[in-house]
Amino acid sequence: MQPFRRVRSGSSRLAEYHFEVSHAPGETVLCPGKLSAGASRTRCDLARGHEAGDAHALAPTYSSVGVASDPLWKRNPLLTTNGGLNVVFYEVPGGAIAESLDKPSISEFFDWISGYLGPFPYGDELRFAGAPTHWLGFEHPANIVLYEKLQTVKGAYANPTMHVVMHETTHQWAGNRATLASVGDFVWKEATAEYLSYVFERDHRPAGEAEGHPGLLGPNFAIGHAPSAPDRRTAPRGARLLHRCVRPGPWCSTFSSKP
Ligand SMILES: [Zn+2]
Repeated sequence: MQPFRRVRSGSSRLAEYHFEVSHAPGETVLCPGKLSAGASRTRCDLARGHEAGDAHALAPTYSSVGVASDPLWKRNPLLTTNGGLNVVFYEVPGGAIAESLDKPSISEFFDWISGYLGPFPYGDELRFAGAPTHWLGFEHPANIVLYEKLQTVKGAYANPTMHVVMHETTHQWAGNRATLASVGDFVWKEATAEYLSYVFERDHRPAGEAEGHPGLLGPNFAIGHAPSAPDRRTAPRGARLLHRCVRPGPWCSTFSSKP
């Protein structure tokens, strides 16, 4: 796989995507954009709205093709922001990310980041999910997947869960709406997400939270966060994360949820 070549190829363009995923009856499948879940077929749309109040939005080629599923996921509401965004959480039984979150602070962050960057670009729902991922978290339009034991991580940040939630949420704008024309542009995506997370920690979180860790921003971080190969570590338990569209196009592809 050559992710960097793909980044150089038209990645700054915003595109329209439609996904239709066939899956086992009752299985939860997450795909980007506006999600419509059926018993054995889930549809997701990333497109310009055609009606007043329809907030679908286009998205960049490098982050829009991501499908994840886990037969054990349970969906639970996390909070509704003052702006009307419904934030929901998917975890397997025993998952403890959502219960570890400081909901009032998360809600305050959503209001704060929307004040800087504008209303949430992808409709009225943002989905978080816990999964056995390599990264602490990564984003696709309206979907954010977090490492399923994020609340146990030590050393990366003073409060890794809060920080990563803020970082990945910021990518809904910085990265998913402000796009990258080259690998060198990753700084605008990653530095913006890190910087704004630190600012919120400094101004709205307990004293010292922003300063109490070295942070992850190093010379390799931006490159290391480039679109990655499918995470094979997710396969054994059924969560599958697909980063490539096998036939790029407005109807993109149909992914089977079967292993
Ligand atoms: Zn990032």
